[in-house]
Amino acid sequence: MEFCPKCGALMVPKQGKKRKSLACDCGYRTKQKPSVTSLKEKVPAGRGIEVVDKKLELLPKTDEECPKCKNKEAYYWTVQTRAGDEAETRFLECTKCKHRWRSNT
Ligand SMILES: [Zn+2]
Ligand SMILES: [Zn+2]
Repeated sequence: MEFCPKCGALMVPKQGKKRKSLACDCGYRTKQKPSVTSLKEKVPAGRGIEVVDKKLELLPKTDEECPKCKNKEAYYWTVQTRAGDEAETRFLECTKCKHRWRSNT
């Protein structure tokens, strides 16, 4: 049971057009929250640690030389390969020709 917050009288449930609400003789009316649980937005499944999808703009740069075009600037990121005891592999991508290579140094 609910009482009107305005006049204190007992409120009666009334079926509205779409949802139920409580109404009072004084004219006060509450709107009940729709019982339908809001659909959770489906988050697109992440593509894991796919290196290809890395946002290059966010990657740090290094002055490593590109083996292809000899450009001395490359983005780099590290990837831990499989077992944790393995050293992480450093990947580089030339800022100029987009050539990718890996280095273990
Ligand atoms: Zn009332
Ligand atoms: Zn290059």
